Amino acid sequence: MSEPLAPCPSRMDRRQFLSGCFRCALLCAGSGLAGNAAFPAPSRAQEIQKGRKGLKLSPYFTPLSGGHVRCDLCPRQCETAHGERGHCRVRENRDGKYYSLVYGNPCAVHVDPIEKKPFFHVLPSTRSFSIATAGCNFNCKFCQNWEISQASPDDTMNYDLPPEALIRNAQQFQCESIASTYVEPTIFIEYMIEVGKLAKSAKILNTMHSNGYISPKPLDDLCDCLDAACIDLKGFTEDYYRELTGGSLAPVLETLQHLKARKVHTELVNLIVPGKNDDMTRIRTMCRWILKELGPDVPVHFTRFYPMYKLKSLEPTPVSVLENAWKAAREEGLNHAYIGNIPGHPAEDTICPRCKQTVIKRTGYSISSISLKDGSCGSCGQKIAGIWKPA
Ligand code: SF4
Repeated sequence: MSEPLAPCPSRMDRRQFLSGCFRCALLCAGSGLAGNAAFPAPSRAQEIQKGRKGLKLSPYFTPLSGGHVRCDLCPRQCETAHGERGHCRVRENRDGKYYSLVYGNPCAVHVDPIEKKPFFHVLPSTRSFSIATAGCNFNCKFCQNWEISQASPDDTMNYDLPPEALIRNAQQFQCESIASTYVEPTIFIEYMIEVGKLAKSAKILNTMHSNGYISPKPLDDLCDCLDAACIDLKGFTEDYYRELTGGSLAPVLETLQHLKARKVHTELVNLIVPGKNDDMTRIRTMCRWILKELGPDVPVHFTRFYPMYKLKSLEPTPVSVLENAWKAAREEGLNHAYIGNIPGHPAEDTICPRCKQTVIKRTGYSISSISLKDGSCGSCGQKIAGIWKPA
């Protein structure tokens, strides 16, 4: 039986939080996850093991002739022979059956502010117990977590953290949500679903930050136990997706429509990469699609690119480009546009769409004031979309 991570004594004050960040930075130095506000887990840390794998039969595959299988989890639909793995590196054909290799074995376990996901309309100023396994079904050239997303679970240091133990840890660290994040989490969907079911009973929200590249059936199963999704809408052309991510746009748009139909709270992230997806006409087209298909209240985060991984030669996104995108989104009728990765920018705040008063004031991941009453603007009573009460 797994022991819980070292508990956090009480709700953090600022000094404790910073101290936690510092300790975490030390512990996570090898994880490749930049700037994580994680807590160390002395007892668990000793149990981290390189290449630890947790086998689980996938419900999402079709047997083919000759012992081959087709994976039905994401639109890639990898076909494999015995002993082969799919593109994401975490699913393997063993004797004509398809298995997840990362059930209960995350390589990243952190306690983050929920604003870091980024969720700006979900329980502000609370902690999110955040996990990731190795692997990803995309190959984004700008990935900030490429050391784990482009790795196989054989090569990462993996915890032994079954769903029950994960929930216990989330409770002990006083997390009001769980976030599957850092890499594409739907590649460990069996783990996410089991965690989500237990989270529901424990009155903890289940959330994810995803690229949205998942097939409809598994997505529908996931929605049964998913409260909120932060989806990367990385660009708005198939060419961009093909060139920069190795994936495609159409399935992501279908996922967004599906989440809307299943009433899962959704926020969008659009990383603006200079010279790649910063055309304002295209950004306006994207905003119009969001307005028409998802409605005016979906939060949209335009985030700043920094030179990273395979795009080190590019410059950071000019602030003026992000501000133009933010302005375009507002002009097209989106109520909650934000600028991300520029702490202190005024476009981090949540503004009431009716009276224009500040409802939530933020600097980076830190909240300095909240003016909400029962999910409505504290000044004029306008309902603000989001999840504002604990599960
Ligand atoms: S989830 Fe992985 S194995 Fe399955 S189709 Fe997608 S990339 Fe291939």
